[in-house]
Amino acid sequence: MSSNVASVADNTSRDTTGFHDLPLDERLQTARDGTAFFGRHLAQISDADLDGSSSLPGWTRKHVLAHVGYNAAALCNLITWAATGVETPMYSSFEQRNLEIEQGATQSAAALRNLFSHTAARLDEAWRHLPSDRWSHEVRTIQGRTIPASETAWLRTREVWIHAVDLGTAGSFADFPEPVLADLFDDVLSGWRRNDDGAQLRLMPAGQTATDVDPGFDGTRIEVSGSLAAIVGWMCGRSTDGITTAEGVTPPRWI
Ligand code: ZN
Repeated sequence: MSSNVASVADNTSRDTTGFHDLPLDERLQTARDGTAFFGRHLAQISDADLDGSSSLPGWTRKHVLAHVGYNAAALCNLITWAATGVETPMYSSFEQRNLEIEQGATQSAAALRNLFSHTAARLDEAWRHLPSDRWSHEVRTIQGRTIPASETAWLRTREVWIHAVDLGTAGSFADFPEPVLADLFDDVLSGWRRNDDGAQLRLMPAGQTATDVDPGFDGTRIEVSGSLAAIVGWMCGRSTDGITTAEGVTPPRWI
């Protein structure tokens, strides 16, 4: 066992501020900043180019845009749930969610741009009007996870920042605020740990303590190094830019 195992097993020892360390108003602002970031990259794409492929396999940019728009609407449902106490799911089913994206992607560029800005404004409005004692009200995600309503700030933050990169313009993980990177790192890591995936990986963000995906793994570890942004982009399956690792090593799925 190497001498740094004790520290790598403890994620709380990191020195960066995570998204969830921020007060709620800053978390909501980070989501809004992500919407603005997405909007800036969307504005660089012509209507015709919206039909082109995104970085996501099988999805055009219109699919990404429809998905991000409907995601805001789905999160509005969770805020309604928290506000009223009446169960209001994000989507009625996975099938409905996927169908909505498929059909949404056939709409005109103008309709989809409108969907994006309209639903983002609606979510912002819902957040602004949710009484302070309702933020801890429990709601359920489409994955069946029970979360406080305040966690919608993180769900939206993930969507807008990451999918802005998926539009395939010049946006990259290096543009993300560090608290977003820090908690994406934790999200992917706990996903891998839950699935028993990537046990051999040792993640080594520059200037930070290394993290072993499975601290108890006793085989040969595969080191993955780069900036925190490069490592998180790689962990999310988005990019190998700026990553140094053994040849042929790919990140396990995380969601
Ligand atoms: Zn998504």
